[in-house]
Amino acid sequence: MSTLEIRGLHVSVETESGPKEILRGVDLTVRSGETHAVMGPNGSGKSTLAYSLAGHPKYTVTSGEVLLDGEDVLAMTVDERARAGLFLAMQYPVEVPGVSVSNFLRTAKTAVDGEAPKLRTWVKDVKGAMDRLSIDDAFAERDLNTGFSGGEKKRHEILQLELLNPKFAVLDETDSGLDIDALRVVADGVNRFTSSGDKGVLLITHYTRILRYIKPDYVHVFVGGRVAEEGGPELADKLEEKGYVDYAGASA
Ligand code: ADP
Ligand code: MG
Ligand code: MG
Repeated sequence: MSTLEIRGLHVSVETESGPKEILRGVDLTVRSGETHAVMGPNGSGKSTLAYSLAGHPKYTVTSGEVLLDGEDVLAMTVDERARAGLFLAMQYPVEVPGVSVSNFLRTAKTAVDGEAPKLRTWVKDVKGAMDRLSIDDAFAERDLNTGFSGGEKKRHEILQLELLNPKFAVLDETDSGLDIDALRVVADGVNRFTSSGDKGVLLITHYTRILRYIKPDYVHVFVGGRVAEEGGPELADKLEEKGYVDYAGASA
């Protein structure tokens, strides 16, 4: 049993006019075996939460803590976070020309496990995961994220998830850009990931659409840089129907 705890997290971002506070006291706990959806209007700070967990240098934690089984995540380097079992997919992955998907995956796997994967099983594992995600073989030789379509970025993200096999996954999903096939591939991948019953997922999303395919155990409504309401999956149904109008007062 593992626990990812976010406690009283305050985060500022550097802007041209100085630091601006975006996260204003986020409290959220994910245990292994649980899928949590974080839902909120545009600009509420959802991606800032994901970037902060990922250790993006532009985002400064001014107070609060993030603990993985009691270990201070914020004190860890990005590699250490991955080795500790955290998977942090970014909404807009950086483009890394000159590094192939295949090389990147092997490097990431080596960094996470602390040793290079055995070549024969690795090649089979990659092939199997790519087949499950309907990814063409040629994709493995493409430059990392260079010229990837929205759907390809998402498939690649889920490919990493399957191969790296973390304890916790933080997925910042803009399902807006995804066609229905890509959405299902992503959802199926996340469902495969959680099927072992011991994984934790923090699924960040603006739309309720993806929640038709991924059933969260808990829903957190995120407004104005903090959790404004929490509940079970029924909360997502309410948001689907009414949107975020009820929370208008909670922003700004
Ligand atoms: P969401 O993902 O919920 O749409 P974001 O976390 O992307 O929200 O943004 C929250 C707020 O923080 C927005 O007002 C956005 O303009 C601001 N913000 C986020 N990142 C930056 C940045 N790098 N520079 C300036 N402002 C930022
Ligand atoms: Mg909770
Ligand atoms: Mg966002």
